[in-house]
Amino acid sequence: MNRSVLHKITYGLYIITSGQEGNFNGQIGNTMFQVTSEPATIAISINKGNYTHELIKLSRKFAVSILSQAAPMTLIGLFGFKSGREVNKLLDVKTKTGVTGVPIVLDYSIAYLEAELISELDCGTHTIFVGRIVDADTISNEEPMTYDYYHKVKGGKASKNAPTYLKEEPAVKHEQAAPANRYVCSVCGYVYDPAIGDPDGGVAPGTRFEDIPDSWVCPVCGAAKAQFEKEQ
Ligand code: FE
Repeated sequence: MNRSVLHKITYGLYIITSGQEGNFNGQIGNTMFQVTSEPATIAISINKGNYTHELIKLSRKFAVSILSQAAPMTLIGLFGFKSGREVNKLLDVKTKTGVTGVPIVLDYSIAYLEAELISELDCGTHTIFVGRIVDADTISNEEPMTYDYYHKVKGGKASKNAPTYLKEEPAVKHEQAAPANRYVCSVCGYVYDPAIGDPDGGVAPGTRFEDIPDSWVCPVCGAAKAQFEKEQ
């Protein structure tokens, strides 16, 4: 099987939230699609190990925020590479409580959907949850972030819990720097390239990794500078 074919499938990028009675969480998801029109239903695929999976099972409801192209890697890193069992991800983002009581992430969201669980399918490592849409609205007219844009323009990686994760996923290659000068985040696989720097994180293009302040963190997952390893 040529697994690179799987990279030809198109997706978006979403923050999926769920929970009840004060226990809420959210995570990045790239697998969400409309299933039927009447009634309007959507499906999502969630890793069984994720805290959000547990909360959808318990509360039987979830919300989906559709992210804009402008969503920074720090937001995606927070919701995609950290566990809600360790940090309250919803603390530092703007949310509103939806009709289901689930917090909906508004930061960098162009629209949202809220759903009540009507069906689920056990798929081994993941569960497909199908929900009936109970509310939906648009927030802005910005362009939605596609999964392709996330990978190619933002340099993002798939979390190992993502339905689309491939072990052999190639690192995003840049021609500007010799490999020896590039550093890889041991947590998420983000590659720091001195030719590009990390302008969003205050590191100008041309900055050597050694010259980045120790307070700098991985723009994707928030890991400390010390977690980076020299690219082999
Ligand atoms: Fe990282």
